[in-house]
Amino acid sequence: MTNNMFFIANWKMFGDLKSVNSIKKVINLSKTKKYKKAQIIYCPPYTLIDKILRITKNTKIKVGAQNCHYSQSDGPYTGSIHSDLIKSIGAKYVIIGHSENRVLGDTNQIINLKIKSALKKKLKIIFCIGETLKEKRKKKTNLILKSQIYGALKNIKKNNNIIFAYEPVWSIGTGIIPKMENLEKQVIIIKKLIINFWKLKNPKIIYGGSVNPKNIAELKKIRSINGFLIGGASRNSKNFIDIIKKTIN
Ligand code: PEP
Repeated sequence: MTNNMFFIANWKMFGDLKSVNSIKKVINLSKTKKYKKAQIIYCPPYTLIDKILRITKNTKIKVGAQNCHYSQSDGPYTGSIHSDLIKSIGAKYVIIGHSENRVLGDTNQIINLKIKSALKKKLKIIFCIGETLKEKRKKKTNLILKSQIYGALKNIKKNNNIIFAYEPVWSIGTGIIPKMENLEKQVIIIKKLIINFWKLKNPKIIYGGSVNPKNIAELKKIRSINGFLIGGASRNSKNFIDIIKKTIN
């Protein structure tokens, strides 16, 4: 466990202008000596990116989007945002491959195009992978993770701009987390898959799925993990701060 862990807040489709004010407490924490190396990233809905960028200006906190279109430039795609638009307002990150978007049609092939377009625009990527409960029960987890990683990275040169977020779908928003020994093994397998594919020395792997102030003491024990992707608990600054403090203590 190091003190430069990632704490990535995925606000999903939640948050109005008022809710942004609560971030001030997290900004204060990020300026203290003990926590200044923590890599805090907010991924709010598109509508709040600009406001959060302003409030976090001159701090170490970064901002990202929750998705992007695969197109590399403008086009007739109603309701969509491409990487260049995200980059142009000052966001530095984008989540790609979240299971909530996979169920809406994001295939490994589409995710591959999205990653290519985001890399081209020099955005950093939080790339989500994870098996469903059905796949887990059928003992297909490793097969699924391999196809998600190999499919998404196809024809992409190795680089250090992708953070791999292991998010078992059955853990997202359910309050259920994997058994620690299983999670530990799974992270090692994911690391090997990435290293086999890319010969990358030290891929960054984070865990996501029902992380909260109660289970963080257990989760932080997972070796070779670089941080957490946090949904529900990140919208409440007190909980988010609790998670950061309990991880880096
Ligand atoms: C997520 O959606 O990325 C996530 C981790 O959600 P939660 O923490 O609410 O399970």
